[in-house]
Amino acid sequence: MHTPNVDYVRAKSLKEAIQHLSSKGSRVHAGGTDLLGCLHDGIFEAKKIVSLSQINDLKGIRETKEGGLRIGALTTLTEVADHKVVKERYPALAKGASEAASPQLRNQGTIGGNLCQKPRCWYYRGEFHCLRKGGNQCYAYKGENHYHCLFGSGGVCYIVHPSDTAPALVAYEASVRITGPGGPKSVPVAKFHVLPADDVEKETILRPNEIVTEIVLPPPPQGLRSSYRKVRARQSWDFALAGVAVSFKFKDGLIERARVVLSGAAPIPWRCQETEKFVLNKRLDAGTAARAAEIAMKNAEPLEHNGYKVPLFRGVIEEELSMIARG
Ligand SMILES: Cc1cc2nc3c(=O)[nH]c(=O)nc-3n(C[C@H](O)[C@H](O)[C@H](O)COP(=O)(O)OP(=O)(O)OC[C@H]3O[C@@H](n4cnc5c(N)ncnc54)[C@H](O)[C@@H]3O)c2cc1C
Ligand code: SF4
Repeated sequence: MHTPNVDYVRAKSLKEAIQHLSSKGSRVHAGGTDLLGCLHDGIFEAKKIVSLSQINDLKGIRETKEGGLRIGALTTLTEVADHKVVKERYPALAKGASEAASPQLRNQGTIGGNLCQKPRCWYYRGEFHCLRKGGNQCYAYKGENHYHCLFGSGGVCYIVHPSDTAPALVAYEASVRITGPGGPKSVPVAKFHVLPADDVEKETILRPNEIVTEIVLPPPPQGLRSSYRKVRARQSWDFALAGVAVSFKFKDGLIERARVVLSGAAPIPWRCQETEKFVLNKRLDAGTAARAAEIAMKNAEPLEHNGYKVPLFRGVIEEELSMIARG
């Protein structure tokens, strides 16, 4: 680790954790699967590491009285993937959690950490002092950009958001509960991540002394069909090259509400809003699925080496919508 003289504290309560995080250079430690790698590789430094592991209120999955779910931020990806109610009512989330990383990492990694993890751009993870680290250029723009984004760069930074659970959470209109010195607040997951044009050095809206405490899923409406599909370079532990979370609510055979959210496409989970509008009040047949996939890629801005992602996404979206159509 490049970090000299690091204090390591195990907070006993949320209040204590927030107090510790208020001193400059402090970082939250949940499962550590991403944090420890970042510190080891010198991507950022920490003066104090604040472990949440003893705050039991942040663990576990509970049903809400409205019929939704509250998932504590420290719940592991394995627990999310294996939970009976998650699998039955929120299959896209169960699938996203089950396909993230490796079994060992899923046993250790938490859903809160999954939403807050740092991007995987190899320049950023390497020794390049790029814009996201406070430098003055993006090395990926003219460099090895095979795995970078098609949307949302703002001409600034071309990362793809790495989480496999976030697109599903956006598709289910989930919210993140955050606590800081000012008390708790709730933010839709769709508004939790930050585009590079808004702040190139931040991935989320969190302040340094704020903690994600839980994720709240609303009850799934009647007639909802949903899924997540992830394509990776090898059938191994890789992050998504292209992925899509879909949630469609049907009424009398017509699509009444749609969410189509991409992973591996943009610096945030990317909602295909034109596609969502296009499918409204239509039957989901083969023609609609093909046209919807085309519309989703209409405004893609490929770089020199990632043009292959455009037809890949088109195929993945069309196939997933056809799968939803079959019920
Ligand atoms: C080899 C490898 C492969 C991986 N593959 C995938 C993959 O395919 N898909 C995928 O989605 N992920 C993947 N990951 C990432 C990792 O598994 C997940 O990000 C994991 O869920 C992170 O959770 P954690 O608890 O270990 O987070 P930590 O490492 O503890 O934290 C990650 C970041 O989030 C912050 N943080 C954590 N919890 C909170 C909180 N409650 N409030 C505020 N800030 C918080 C930390 O300060 C840190 O910056 C991979 C990681 C590795 C090392
Ligand atoms: S894509 Fe973003 S993280 Fe990667 S080199 Fe460019 S500025 Fe840095």
